[in-house]
Amino acid sequence: MLFPVCAPTIPWCLVLHRRLSAAAAPLYDVVISGGGMVGTAMACALGSHPHLRHQRILLLEAGQRKVLEPLPQQFSNRVSSITPGSATLLASFGAWDHICAMRLKPYKRMQVWDACSDSLITFDKEGMEDIGYIIENNVITTALTGQLDAMSEHVEVLYRSRAVGYTWPAPYNSVEGSPYVGIQLADGQSLHTRLVIGADGQNSMVRRSAGMNTVQWSYNHMAVVATLELSESTENNVAWQRFLPSGPIALLPLSDSWSSLVWSTSPEHAAELLRMDEESFLDAVNSAFWSSEHHSDFISSAGSLLRSAVSFLRPSGSSSRQLPPSVSRLGDKSRAAFPLGLGHATEYVRQRVALIGDAAHRVHPLAGQGVNMGFGDVASLVHHLSIAAFNGQDLGSTRHLLEYETERQRQNLPLMAAIDLLKRLYNTKKPPIVLLRTLGLQATNALPPLKEQIMEFASK
Ligand SMILES: Cc1cc2nc3c(=O)[nH]c(=O)nc-3n(C[C@H](O)[C@H](O)[C@H](O)COP(=O)(O)OP(=O)(O)OC[C@H]3O[C@@H](n4cnc5c(N)ncnc54)[C@H](O)[C@@H]3O)c2cc1C
Repeated sequence: MLFPVCAPTIPWCLVLHRRLSAAAAPLYDVVISGGGMVGTAMACALGSHPHLRHQRILLLEAGQRKVLEPLPQQFSNRVSSITPGSATLLASFGAWDHICAMRLKPYKRMQVWDACSDSLITFDKEGMEDIGYIIENNVITTALTGQLDAMSEHVEVLYRSRAVGYTWPAPYNSVEGSPYVGIQLADGQSLHTRLVIGADGQNSMVRRSAGMNTVQWSYNHMAVVATLELSESTENNVAWQRFLPSGPIALLPLSDSWSSLVWSTSPEHAAELLRMDEESFLDAVNSAFWSSEHHSDFISSAGSLLRSAVSFLRPSGSSSRQLPPSVSRLGDKSRAAFPLGLGHATEYVRQRVALIGDAAHRVHPLAGQGVNMGFGDVASLVHHLSIAAFNGQDLGSTRHLLEYETERQRQNLPLMAAIDLLKRLYNTKKPPIVLLRTLGLQATNALPPLKEQIMEFASK
């Protein structure tokens, strides 16, 4: 629509003046700033939606176009656990087929256990259905980029284009400035848009420039990642996570013989793990999964007492412990470390702005939820924008953007709080807390309906 609905008190000559001032730079309906996994998924979702694909849409990405051609034999060290809900979103615009044609590893069981006691929880679905998929991040990006290439008549894409400044719409009663968002690029170009979607990651310039506040803290932890070969090939369809007092360690399946490590620990220990020779590193990983050095007799007795009581009351309630695989080789140059923290934007939207993905929220990777929350944002924002487009409304209006914000904050905030609580609960060896979490975990493990609810909430 050329003249979207404005406040009724504004004279048309004023609106026209502001529109003519903006006319020098191209005007888009939607600009997505940031083409990581979440921003590129947003571009695909907009470009494939029947109500939105006729809008003028642009994706801006500071980095270069990234595609794996051909797919390297060695797995990348950056992987994500993808939920069935995210798989459905990716399938809705055709990217899932590309991922399946490259590679992914479904997992059918998850075992999470405490290094300070024998307590554990397992998750699986009836009939051994997939509970999630481990996929390399650059496989996801390649699939999304391939799908975006096929939508070039609906979505423009500018790679190596960094947004370096934003100017925000002038108030309705002002004669100065544009009614749209202005975007200045590093190469000197400028453009305007009715809606800018900030998908520019945890240090989002869109968020900072719009003055949207964040609550954030560092965990003073690093995630050490690596690609590891198993001592023996197996079906390898279990995602393993053990909570050590220093932080969680996870081994995620990539194929029958390779898995991906994510080990959260102190910066000093992370630096040591990165420096070690291969043999010492593999010993450290195996011992982190197998050692009983943090066990206490008292907690173990209390835990086994509860287990006996539970198995008497609910003989089929709790599920059995499996032994994790051991690892025997480190993938070439696959060790790296990333800082961990929590961040949450207090607002996801303002007039003509919406934040998605890590620009809006950043979580600890222990629950494998970060990019899944971002894909959830994409599904929700596209839904609300499509209704606005169908009704001929201005896409940048807070009327429908606020509905997106409410919907997503209802889902994201409880998840973030639960992840943060888990991180804190397991980051200690204090006996009363270890006892409390041991009993809590055992009790939860014995209640299949509760586990199903947890799985359903986390798999959206
Ligand atoms: C060790 C580790 C393990 C993880 N495991 C999982 C997991 O198993 N499951 C899960 O769901 N999540 C996981 N996560 C979280 C997940 O990786 C992130 O949530 C996800 O990568 C965020 O994607 P994004 O697209 O929002 O942001 P980013 O990946 O940060 O992408 C932002 C993009 O914006 C571009 N950009 C930035 N500024 C500008 C600008 N000014 N102009 C133009 N472009 C710009 C950047 O170049 C970049 O491409 C993990 C994270 C870590 C650290």
